[in-house]
Amino acid sequence: MKRFKSFKLVLVLLSLPLPLIAQVNWTAPESIDSKKTKVSTASGRAVVVTANQLASDAALATLEGGGSAMDAVITAQTVLAVVEPQSSGLGGGAFLLYWDQAKQSLHALDGRETASAQVKEDMWTTSAKKTFPWLEATKSLSSIGVPGTTALLWEGHRQFGRLAWKDNFKISIHLAEAGFIPSPRFLRSISLAKRLGINHSQAFKSLYLPNGSLPKKRVPFQNPKLALTLRNLAKGGIDEFYRGEIAKNLIADLQLQKDSNSEVRTITLEDLANYKVKKRQPICREYRSWRVCSFPPPSGGGVAVLQALGTYEHLSKKNLSEKTIGHWHFLAESLRFADADRSHWIGDPIDWPIPLKGLLEDVYIVERANSIQNSKTTLRPFPGNPKGSEFLHFASQPRTAGKGTTHLVIVDLDGNIASYTSSVETVFGSRHLSGGMVLNNQLTDFSFLSEISGKPIANRIKPNKRPMSSMSPVIVFRDNRPVLAVGSPGGWLIPHYITNTLIRSLDLKFSPREAVSQKLISVRPNYTVLEKNANWSTPHLNIHEGLKRLGHHIKYSAFSSGIAIIKWHKGKWHGAADPRREGKAVSLP
Ligand code: GLU
Repeated sequence: MKRFKSFKLVLVLLSLPLPLIAQVNWTAPESIDSKKTKVSTASGRAVVVTANQLASDAALATLEGGGSAMDAVITAQTVLAVVEPQSSGLGGGAFLLYWDQAKQSLHALDGRETASAQVKEDMWTTSAKKTFPWLEATKSLSSIGVPGTTALLWEGHRQFGRLAWKDNFKISIHLAEAGFIPSPRFLRSISLAKRLGINHSQAFKSLYLPNGSLPKKRVPFQNPKLALTLRNLAKGGIDEFYRGEIAKNLIADLQLQKDSNSEVRTITLEDLANYKVKKRQPICREYRSWRVCSFPPPSGGGVAVLQALGTYEHLSKKNLSEKTIGHWHFLAESLRFADADRSHWIGDPIDWPIPLKGLLEDVYIVERANSIQNSKTTLRPFPGNPKGSEFLHFASQPRTAGKGTTHLVIVDLDGNIASYTSSVETVFGSRHLSGGMVLNNQLTDFSFLSEISGKPIANRIKPNKRPMSSMSPVIVFRDNRPVLAVGSPGGWLIPHYITNTLIRSLDLKFSPREAVSQKLISVRPNYTVLEKNANWSTPHLNIHEGLKRLGHHIKYSAFSSGIAIIKWHKGKWHGAADPRREGKAVSLP
C-alpha cells in the first residue's frame, strides 16, 4: 500500500487552477486540458501507462506483488471505474490485445457491448425517417448495450491471470470506500456531463452533483454503492455480475427508470445471462521492417490503422521527414481513404461477411494508394472494392457524433504485454447508473440509419449485434519480438492519433515522450484538421500553406487524444502518457 503516497501528488495537482470547461464536439468527445502539462514517462523492465496516477500506481503494485500484466489490467480497470468513471468501467465495453510471452502468442479478446435481443432496428429514426438527435439518444435507456468489460476481465484472468481474482479488487474497493481526491479532469467531466444533460438520471445527480454542486476539490470522493458492487464481484465472479444480484439490481434499476408509456426496449436478464466474450483473430500487416497488429471488426479502427500505414508506406517510399509537405499530405490522404472504407465496409461480422482479408491485402492497398494524387487532395474519396465484397451492396454510414474512453498499456516482468482500450462511450456514458456503475451508451455507435436508398449500412442496428468501434489497441513486432504497444481514446479519431504516433515512433525513431507530445493531424471526408495551438509553420516549412496549395481545406481543433505507449529501446521498456489528459507512466527498474 506504499503506492498511496501518490495521494500527495494528487493533492499538489489540485492546488493548480481548474482549466476552463471545453466545448463538447465531435473532436472533443471528453473535455480537453487547456494547458498541456509535463509528459509523464517511465522506463524499466516492467512499465504501466494508464490515464490516471492512482490506476497506474495500483497496477504497478499488482506487478510488484507477483501479478501478471493481466492481473494488472484488472486492477487498473477496477480503479479506473472508481477514479475515471467518465471514461470506462464495469458498465462499459473493452478490447484487449494480449501478448503471452511464454507461449509466444497474441490474443484478441472482444468485450464490446452487445445490443439487446429486444432492440428495435429503427430505434434511432422517427416515423418520418429522420434520425434522432445524437445527444438525446445518448440519454436513452435504449442506448445501453449489454456490458462486456467484466466478462473480458474474467476471461483474461482465466487465461492469463496469476493472482487470485479477488486480490485484483482490493485497491479499487478501498478507493471507492475510503474515497479519493478528485482529479481536475474528473471534476471537469462532471460539468461536461451536466451540459450534455443529466436530468434523466437521479442517481447521477445524487452521486456526482450532491446538492447540485460539484464534489469538493480537496475532500475524498466516495462511491459506497460501487464499493459494494466491486466487493460482490470480487467475491462472486462473473456469475454475480451476469446472473446474480448485480444483474438483478441492474435490471430493476432500468425498470424503475423506464417510462411506462414509452416504447423503450433495453437490456434484460436474459441478455445479461447470454453475454459472451469473443475470442478474435488479431489482424496484422507488415509495415516496412515491422509487423503491426491490432483489433479486427467490430472495430473499424484496427483496419483503418493498418490500411493507413500501408498506404502511407507506398506513397512515402523513403520520404520520411516531417519537414516535407509530402509527409503531411500523404498522411492526411492515407487516413481519409482508410476512413472511406471503414464507414462503408465495417460492422459486426455477425451480420455480414465483412471483406476483411480483401481490405488488408497488399494489391488492394497499393491500388488505393495509386489513386491518391501527389499534387492534389481527394475530397470525399469513395470506398474501394476489396476482394470478397462482390455480393455486398452497402451504403456508407453517415458520420455520427460523439464520444468516454481510456487506453492503457502494461508490460510485466516476464514480458507479457497488454494493450487495452475500454469505454463507456460519451462522457459518463448514458449517465444512467446502477450499483454505483456508469452504464454505457455504446449503442449510439451503430448507424442511426439502417439503409439509404434501399442499400443496407454495414453497421446497422440488429439484435445481439455489436456496434462498430474505433478503438484500436496495437502491438508492434520486429523479428518476432514485441517492440511497441500503443492505443488511445478519442472516438472516430482514434486511428488517426495512432497512425500519427506509429509513424513517428517507428520511422522517425521518436522516443515515447516525443511521440505523445507532438502535434497531430486528422481528417474528415472533405477537410483536414490541424491541432490547435501547435506550431504548423517554421522558417523552413509552412505546413498550413503547403497543404492549402494542394487543395486541402484546413480547420483547426483541439484534440482529446490520450495516447499510452511503451517502446523497447536499448534493453528496456520506455513508457509515456499523452499530456493532453492526466495519464501517468510508472515502472519497476
Ligand atoms: N465509443 C467509441 C468507440 O468504441 C470510443 C469513444 C471514445 O474514444 O471516447 O469507438
